[in-house]
Amino acid sequence: MAGLSERIQRLKASSTIAFNTRATELRRQGIDVVAMTAGEPDFQPPEHVLEAAREAIRLGLTKYTPSEGSLELRQAVCEKLARENGLSYEPDSVLVSTGGKQVLYNGFQAVLDPGDEVLMMTPAWVSYPAQVQLAGGVVVPVTTRPEDGFLPTVEAVAAAITPRTKVLLLNSPSNPTGAVYPPQLVRELVELAAEHDLWVFTDELYEHLIYEGTFTPAARFARDRTLVINGASKAYALTGWRIGYGAGPRDLIKAMNRLQSQVTSNANALAQHAVVAALNQVDATRAFIDRTLQAYRERRDVLVEGLNRLGLATPTPQGAFYVMADLTSIDPDEGKAALRLLEEARVAAVPGTDFLAPGQARFSYATSLDNVHTALDRIEAFLG
Ligand code: GLU
Repeated sequence: MAGLSERIQRLKASSTIAFNTRATELRRQGIDVVAMTAGEPDFQPPEHVLEAAREAIRLGLTKYTPSEGSLELRQAVCEKLARENGLSYEPDSVLVSTGGKQVLYNGFQAVLDPGDEVLMMTPAWVSYPAQVQLAGGVVVPVTTRPEDGFLPTVEAVAAAITPRTKVLLLNSPSNPTGAVYPPQLVRELVELAAEHDLWVFTDELYEHLIYEGTFTPAARFARDRTLVINGASKAYALTGWRIGYGAGPRDLIKAMNRLQSQVTSNANALAQHAVVAALNQVDATRAFIDRTLQAYRERRDVLVEGLNRLGLATPTPQGAFYVMADLTSIDPDEGKAALRLLEEARVAAVPGTDFLAPGQARFSYATSLDNVHTALDRIEAFLG
């Protein structure tokens, strides 16, 4: 074989995906594993969205859409951003992509030159560092601590800025920590980015999944330097349909679309049509979100209480559907600890390693309450 590029040899596969695949494989082999790996809602999507997908087939939406996404969906995104977030965008400032992941990828490729630095709070979602590195950029982590609710201080972020800093990456509610940044913190971080002429990339995929606190759209404080990243996966339980969207300054969105037009063209046309219904049928979608939120909250409370009771320190997250638990009492190496949990307790979690979270592991509670109880019983028996 002629060999692989250095760039790809350096690239690790996504560990969230890898661990989830491993748990699914074990289950297929008949091994009864409780999978708390993937950030994937276990609910069926709302019926009105499924109906819109059927309608898309009846309408014969089999062709390409514009690479940037159908006008219908980009308009619906603009209306959503105005209605829910108080932000005014035109459809030519919106790009629809294959998941929030592709929006981010396009964004990093569009703004980073080799050696440019991206500031991110850690623990951070596993794909951020990988995508930054693929764009030739350098990850600069700002460590946040469980005892601070995984919130950074503005001073710590300011201290990490150098002449090479290009992007401040925000993610509230956070994957994996579930931290929800207070409005004042978001404002001060965005103002700091403005002072240093940085891009602000704000991953808002978990916007609707907040149990305490409020969601603060970062673009409110500096619309002209902010890329908003959002999508349909988490709030509407549409992970597999792969619809994400970005909104930002027109030139940035155009550049991202040039790249996308060469790589994947448009996101799936049927799914785009269905997501219009999720965004536009406001009351039906709100009812779905409220129902799922109530279920997630109950699971969160049971899981956090249980893990802490078992001596695995776990702060209560305010949003998303993950908790970060300290596994050092099982093994100081979080990879080994997670492996023991998998092999000996039959509970699958994602070790903190690729989240840049040593000693910890991420448990997703986007799984049934029964599974949460079973996982806790098994961990108790294992530790017992
Ligand atoms: N975002 C989800 C997670 O963190 C799905 C998997 C992925 O894309 O990383 O589990």
